[in-house]
Amino acid sequence: MAHEDWLPRITSIFRMYDLDGDGQLGREDLIAYAGRVAENLTEPGDTKRRAALYDAYAELWTQLSAVSDTDRGGRISEQEFVAATARGAFDGDPHFRDSTLRALDALADALDRDGDGTIDPAEYERIFGATGLDTTTSALGFAAVDTDGDGRITRAELRAAAVHLYPLADPAWLTTDAAPTSGPRGIALVAHDTRKADLLGWTERRAKELEQHRLFGTGTTGTLITRRLGLPVTALRSGPLGGDQQIGALVTRGEIDLLVFFFDPLSSHPHGDDVRALIRLAVLANIPVALNAASADAMILALTPHIPAQVGAAALT
Ligand code: PGA
Repeated sequence: MAHEDWLPRITSIFRMYDLDGDGQLGREDLIAYAGRVAENLTEPGDTKRRAALYDAYAELWTQLSAVSDTDRGGRISEQEFVAATARGAFDGDPHFRDSTLRALDALADALDRDGDGTIDPAEYERIFGATGLDTTTSALGFAAVDTDGDGRITRAELRAAAVHLYPLADPAWLTTDAAPTSGPRGIALVAHDTRKADLLGWTERRAKELEQHRLFGTGTTGTLITRRLGLPVTALRSGPLGGDQQIGALVTRGEIDLLVFFFDPLSSHPHGDDVRALIRLAVLANIPVALNAASADAMILALTPHIPAQVGAAALT
């Protein structure tokens, strides 16, 4: 890609982050940027979304400086940033990619005021004031980002739109079905009646890990978990009434990174076809599926980062 094609984009990203305007990016710029987004998009008491933003942008700084702070001075000059882009340093670096996806997901969660898992036009409009992104960039207009035209933007669509901002040799680098390896993940929880006690016991043991993620559940399972543990679970319809199919739809939209499905291995169910369909979609989407506590333990530990809590906490005080 010719230099003159991407140079304006990359310098505008640099200046967007350089909040104190001193021509250098430092960690404090990224933290201030997270603060600006948090201030504009979240309620003061929403410590969870705010901490997710601070943690994500602190991590983005770490990865950004790892690839572009070539003189190891602890700050990134505009020249270093442009040079890193020119030599393709951002393009394909898996840690930079993960931290970018994580920041985008934290941004999507902050935009999603009503917490329904998607961003509607009124929610989306606030992205420009909050981030300093250019409203005149038509590639970032609602209709352009809402690629399936259903009137709502998913996290996957927001990630895909971000490709436009980066001069990448391979735009697939930042696409959608690739989940970041850190940060909050979408976890779906389903248990048949004979396995509900097992799943509740497991969620109780893993409450600390689970509270770092976005949880979805079929109707009864989700409601029981919230009642018992106080964990926020988006409860869909009950399984026999279509809840498994709703989870399948979330899987196809790239919203689920782990399916915990404690099914009944000893009897058949009227909605057996729905259950098979859900597992089929999970296999196609290549997401981990845990069918019992032992596999769920292994998978939740692999998905849950050890977030340095003090980053968010310190930035919030
Ligand atoms: P439920 O559904 O959580 O509403 O009981 C689970 C299922 O049977 O699939």
